[in-house]
Amino acid sequence: MRNSFCLLLSIFLILTSCKEEPKPEPEQESAPPNFIVIFADDLGYGDLSCYGNPTILTPNLDRMAHEGQKWTNFYVGASVCTPSRAALLTGRLPVRSGMASNKSRVLFPDSKNGLPANEITLAEQLKKVGYATAAIGKWHLGHKEQYLPTNNGFDYYFGIPYSNDMDRVAEYPNGDYWSQQDEDIKTEHFNVPLIRGTEIIERPANQNTITKRYSEETVSYIKKNKDKPFFIYLAHNLPHIPLFASEEATGKSKRGLYGDVVQEIDHGVGQILEALETEGLAENTIVVFTSDNGPWLPFKNNGGSAGLLRAGKGSTWEGGMREPGIFWGPGHVKPGVITDLGSTLDLFATFSAMAKAELPQDRIMDSYDLGPTLMELKPSPRNHIMYYRGTELYAARLGDYKAHFITQGVYGQFGDREEHDPPVLYHLNHDASEQFDIADGNGEILTQIQELVEGHKANLVPGKDQLAERE
Ligand code: MG
Repeated sequence: MRNSFCLLLSIFLILTSCKEEPKPEPEQESAPPNFIVIFADDLGYGDLSCYGNPTILTPNLDRMAHEGQKWTNFYVGASVCTPSRAALLTGRLPVRSGMASNKSRVLFPDSKNGLPANEITLAEQLKKVGYATAAIGKWHLGHKEQYLPTNNGFDYYFGIPYSNDMDRVAEYPNGDYWSQQDEDIKTEHFNVPLIRGTEIIERPANQNTITKRYSEETVSYIKKNKDKPFFIYLAHNLPHIPLFASEEATGKSKRGLYGDVVQEIDHGVGQILEALETEGLAENTIVVFTSDNGPWLPFKNNGGSAGLLRAGKGSTWEGGMREPGIFWGPGHVKPGVITDLGSTLDLFATFSAMAKAELPQDRIMDSYDLGPTLMELKPSPRNHIMYYRGTELYAARLGDYKAHFITQGVYGQFGDREEHDPPVLYHLNHDASEQFDIADGNGEILTQIQELVEGHKANLVPGKDQLAERE
């Protein structure tokens, strides 16, 4: 009896062990992540605590950098507002879209044109795959109705359509524009409109509260759209001059009004992170912080700092185009300090890959998918940076090295235009301040950069100039 029981048990065990392992359930399609890009205006490489500023306190951005990735070689597509914004939103160098010009560096309130309709914005791209999309803040890609965010893929717009120093009124205090005194400058001196959708709702926009209101609009959009994937492009008008801060923020920083403004932006970052956490969205949201170009240095203490980098806004020296680049996303981004190359141009391909939106095939893109670096700390796929001023290529970086073919100061600083043959060469990882020309004896590197540039120019069809024409 006992033997036959053992025999039966053995047969049972053999049979069950031969049975196929149950197949794992097919993996649940994970929800596409939300994206928030926080884009400051004229904030420099050296203006945040986590990038070395000794007096401006930015605990929320520092936290993002600590919990996420801090990029130290992160660039923008141009050193002034309009082309830089076009680069971020299209993933293409602005020379291709016509959003760069040698006649007018940016758009003005009397400009005729804006971002051409055939350009595909990141909002249009993400909308294709079901995202809710909002632009909050400065636009500067055309203020006429057909150019506004709501006609460029954004469901919602709230903001000032260009720079906060435009539409200056006659009562603006005279004197040296570059050494304006904080107390003399009032928000009424700039008759800039505040727009919701396509309607002007306030003019002049009250700039004292604008930073605060942009952050609040962002929080409210997060709460209203928590059940679907969203993309929010929060482009602050500040710390571009004229500087304005709310009553609560004024006098809080040891760095004067400029510091107050940056700290108010940081405070808003804290509110946004808190909203994501409260709504249970933090694990599936990527927040990026960067700035459109370097600091506006002639404004002295009203401008920011590029830290150890040379020059600032408007120039193709590093201070004009290298920016803080912070990526936070606790469910996606592996913490680290990234010294590889990245660019705002890359947000297009990076977000597209994460959202499973196919890249446009009918045009040249200048966008690399940084996903493997963000999620797995793999090397960045980007190995070069092109430094354009208007439609002219002034410099190119390949790996560690940057060659300047043309150098030129800006806003009356940093010298006259000079063409260089052979180019001036710097090793940027040894010499981030661009002090020591090493062209002599590095012919092979110069040849490699020359080949890179020739390849780039061979495929370049400049777009029709959209910035030059005025009413
Ligand atoms: Mg700017």
